[in-house]
Amino acid sequence: MGLPAVRVYAGIWGGRSGVFWLDDLRVEEVGLLNVLRRPGTPITVRGERPNAIHEEGRDFEPITDPKLNFHFDHDCPTIKLRPESRIRQGQTLRVSYYHGTSVTPRQVSLCMSEPGLDEIRRKQAELVQKHLAPRVWFLGMDEIRQGGSCAACKARKKSMAEILGDYITRQVQRIRELNPDAEVFIWSDMLDPHHNAHRDYYMVDGDLTGSWQYVPKDLRIACWNHKAREQSLAHFSRLGFRTLAAAYYDADTLKSTYGWLDSISRTPGALGIMYTTWRKKYDLLGSFGDLVAQGVVPLLPRDSAPRRLSKASEERSEAKEDSPSTNRQTAAEFRTWTDRGGRYKMEAEFAGAAGGAVNLRQRNGDVISIELEKLSAEDQQWIERRKK
Ligand SMILES: [Zn+2]
Repeated sequence: MGLPAVRVYAGIWGGRSGVFWLDDLRVEEVGLLNVLRRPGTPITVRGERPNAIHEEGRDFEPITDPKLNFHFDHDCPTIKLRPESRIRQGQTLRVSYYHGTSVTPRQVSLCMSEPGLDEIRRKQAELVQKHLAPRVWFLGMDEIRQGGSCAACKARKKSMAEILGDYITRQVQRIRELNPDAEVFIWSDMLDPHHNAHRDYYMVDGDLTGSWQYVPKDLRIACWNHKAREQSLAHFSRLGFRTLAAAYYDADTLKSTYGWLDSISRTPGALGIMYTTWRKKYDLLGSFGDLVAQGVVPLLPRDSAPRRLSKASEERSEAKEDSPSTNRQTAAEFRTWTDRGGRYKMEAEFAGAAGGAVNLRQRNGDVISIELEKLSAEDQQWIERRKK
């Protein structure tokens, strides 16, 4: 990866008691371990003279790592010379190859430039369509810790942001070929500059900044960056994406859910909130549902008593009386909104629009998100003028 330095850590993290020691710590060359073999990861075997490149299948037997598992727990494959080999026994060789790196004990990143992947993805999508035929699809892509370093990625001469965006776009296309009306969701982090879409991200060789420019605008973004949720939701909303808050995350309380509810109530185009568990912890699902149904949010972090969303919004306006944005909000005009069929009317002020949805704030502070196309032509024109 052309990195100027490598840090080596040895130790134990999170240990509480007991004895721990390290014996015989060594850094050693392991040679051909976890050898990746695909068109984008060639292997080169050279003699000591720079131009003497040896040929696989002629000078040596094809190299494979039959125990390939992305861990450092097995013997390396060796280079076996063929009878007609030009390599002399005992000669020094310089071997260059790509090896896969596991990210967690059971995960390894794939290469988004590998052409064979499209075929695998297409087959998976076909199976999902055949057996489940879902209306909503969720691309389980997040925390992509590696990429951009192989020959296939380099040959494209694209940024990592483009490579990722292109890969996501192709997956959405694949799904839409099977179901043109499919609603497709994806995790937020790799498209979020406040989270993982930046340079120097883990072992990614290249810059992920701008990845959000290269994906379809009708992708739904499941935002899970709780700490920077305000910036994250605003980022996607401004770009015209519709968002979903991925809340809960196996916590012991629903504290973070309050925060999410509060933030999405002010996010144009927010679709809602999702109970997100990785450990199948469903104990709080009922309370979560009650909270969402009531629209309860806390007023202040230290305020233990939850209140109705409407009250919270009113008092929030009062609290920030002197901020310029609130003054603009106070000055916003209440008008009567009508649905396309002319049957329903509602008095509210405009509170933003994104991704084909409009947020309208009623006098009691409740914010309602409505599909733009469900509003009357006059209301739609009003919003259009407002945008300019
Ligand atoms: Zn690659």
